[in-house]
Amino acid sequence: MDEKFLAGVDIGGTWVRAAICTADLNEKNIKKTIIKTPKENKFSISNSICQILSEIFSENNINVDQILGIGIATAGPLNMEKGEVFNSINLGFKVIPLMEPIKKKFPEIQLYILNDGNAGVLGIHYFEAETDEKDNLVFITMSTGLGGGVICNGRLLLGKEGNAAEVGHVLVDPKSKKKCNCGASGCWEAYSSGTGVENRTLDALNEGKLNSSLLKQIVKNNLSKITAKEVFEAAKKGDELSSKIVEDCIFYTKVGIGVVNNCYDCVSIYFGGAMMKDKDQIIPLLIEQFEKDPIRFTVNHPPRIKSTKFENEIGLMGALALVKYKVEKNKIIS
Ligand SMILES: [Zn+2]
Repeated sequence: MDEKFLAGVDIGGTWVRAAICTADLNEKNIKKTIIKTPKENKFSISNSICQILSEIFSENNINVDQILGIGIATAGPLNMEKGEVFNSINLGFKVIPLMEPIKKKFPEIQLYILNDGNAGVLGIHYFEAETDEKDNLVFITMSTGLGGGVICNGRLLLGKEGNAAEVGHVLVDPKSKKKCNCGASGCWEAYSSGTGVENRTLDALNEGKLNSSLLKQIVKNNLSKITAKEVFEAAKKGDELSSKIVEDCIFYTKVGIGVVNNCYDCVSIYFGGAMMKDKDQIIPLLIEQFEKDPIRFTVNHPPRIKSTKFENEIGLMGALALVKYKVEKNKIIS
């Protein structure tokens, strides 16, 4: 009998990643590819997914009848049933059809879809979580946006359309004027996501109250080059403005963790996403707070705080785990 494979795709605001793996989902057998997220029209993403999957199948001499399923993890919000992303500022367009065009291209393959936060927590569950963490586990992605996924009592929480853990849009400061990607103000994402850090930095530069000479030096006075990465770098070197932005990013993440732990009473929270490149400036401060004085932020016993070793590839790992769990009819997602 021909060997079977699992396929996975992760759609982010900046990158689309795809992978295949043997059906045993052994980390050593995963083959990956990556492209920039195309945003020309609402079908660009699904068209390019069809193309990269076709390429990865043919490069590895795999026929479609050897694929047990394609798992899709996408930046949300997502309508799981229709397989469409809606109102996504990070991906553009009012509605982005994903499932239908891919189904048309690969009619013989089963498709499964989750938002990237939910996929991420499945990835942690399969590849990383310790036994005592698995049944009550949270994943938070800090990237272009900020999202999450929750496993509670051994079940992945989905909600009516698949967006049960959109924790990035909990209000961490109701009086705030800081605009979020969703259109509201004062969301956790507006403070602690990559775009949140970037936008707040540009606002603070406009205000001109704090010294930003080190940050300006890093971007050679070209302010359009400022992203979260440069802000964290400048903060490390002692830049006054950047240090304040990073301090707020961490403070509001503590508030967010408190909300998450009060709602879900989790054993562990794993952080992932592109901003974990600067995890050394984020995670130890969160651990210290929740070890020393958690009652400031949560009434429940505090969670363990960790970062995923897969950083910004955890959504892709979760897309593969989704197929594995669906094929096995695992109760976590049945
Ligand atoms: Zn928001």
